[in-house]
Order: sequence, then C-alpha cells, then structure tokens
Amino acid sequence: MEHCFACETDYGYLGTAPHDGSCPACGSTTVTPAGELGVVDTTTWESANGLSTIHVTATDDRSRLFEFVIAARRGRGKLVCLAIDGVTVPTETVWSVPSAVATRVTAHGVRISDSMSAQSP
Ligand SMILES: [Zn+2]
Repeated sequence: MEHCFACETDYGYLGTAPHDGSCPACGSTTVTPAGELGVVDTTTWESANGLSTIHVTATDDRSRLFEFVIAARRGRGKLVCLAIDGVTVPTETVWSVPSAVATRVTAHGVRISDSMSAQSP
C-alpha cells in the first residue's frame, strides 16, 4: 500500500508499479517509495550513554531521497526520523521500515521493533 504523508491518503496503485513518486491528490512527493529502495549510505554514531544512532540514506526508482534515522539501545532500534526529499514526515504512521533499510540496520546488530511487536523484552 502506498501512503501520502502530506495529506495522509492511502493508495493502492494496483497494476501500476513503480508509481510516479507524487501524490495524485495533493501533488506532494512525500509518498512511500516507488519501486525498490536502494541504500546508498549508512552512517552510525554511538554515544557514551549506550544510545546509538543509525542513519540510512536510500533512493527509490524515481530518484527521490529517503533518509531514515533509527535510534537504538541494547540492540533494539526504533525509527525516530524519516525525511523524503529533505521533507521530514511523521514516523508514527502505519508504514513500516522497508526491508532494504532494515537489512542494513540489522547488519549493525540492531533489531528494529515496531509498535506491533514491541511487547517482548
Ligand atoms: Zn497527498
């Protein structure tokens, strides 16, 4: 399912993939990735208090830039910031972290927990 972060409309885009990278309702480019996301850069920081930050930069089939910031502690990570083409969008959406990004985060020993599976310690 595709989602527009600007007007919060959900789209099916059945049979037309990748989509053109903009919202048909409001024209915003802050919509979910068109086609496959390709990770172009991964940066990590680790602070003295045990909190680490993983910044993953990726592009989609329409050359839009996606920046994911995951904060992690004790091997568990959470998406804290997402920017599409430099525009920060809400992260408390139903949309989960794409597998291409999750794979890079997992490579750093961090497992992303979303709201649906955060119960187990
Ligand atoms: Zn829209």
